[in-house]
Amino acid sequence: MEALYPRTGHAEHTMNSDRVQAAVRELLSALGEDPDRSDLRETPARAAAAWGELLGGRDENPLVHMAALPVIESFAGHVISLRDITFRSVCEHHLLPFHGSVHLMYRSSGPVAGLSSFVRAIETLSSRLQLQERLTEQIADVLTEGIAPEGAIVVVVARHGCVSDRGVRQADARTVTIASRGTYSGDQETSAAALLLAPPTL
Ligand SMILES: [Zn+2]
Repeated sequence: MEALYPRTGHAEHTMNSDRVQAAVRELLSALGEDPDRSDLRETPARAAAAWGELLGGRDENPLVHMAALPVIESFAGHVISLRDITFRSVCEHHLLPFHGSVHLMYRSSGPVAGLSSFVRAIETLSSRLQLQERLTEQIADVLTEGIAPEGAIVVVVARHGCVSDRGVRQADARTVTIASRGTYSGDQETSAAALLLAPPTL
């Protein structure tokens, strides 16, 4: 399993706002713009702040958010599903944003976690340079390590800037990725994913 927070601790791998600002200024120049034009003068600082926020989860361990609720009764065997948790991330192939929803379901072995635990863990994992496939697997890993369910399935549906705004420019195309663990792997994966993707009835 790939590390959930693959940090080396080396200074050169820490975000340096001054260098990001200088790089944005250089990018503007290389794009044929005048970075000293009045409307662009603050752009490097604004862009550096935006990158800081977009990648702000890189140094965080998502597992710290996965505290299980105190077990007042055992939920062993219960199936719990959470849908439509929205996220945004940055595609590391194009440095363009992608947006979408996470739907997950697990069969508890006893512990359960609150909705906010999942939301924060997903926020941590998505606030990095990512690939949708890796994000999906990492959410499944955090769920599995956090509350050790008998089985879990995670479905991520996303629209990618690199598909909608460049290349084939398909604004409505969505990418669906699935990761499953335990009892939901193998033969159960397709039917569990279909259940998660069915329209909500509320
Ligand atoms: Zn991309």
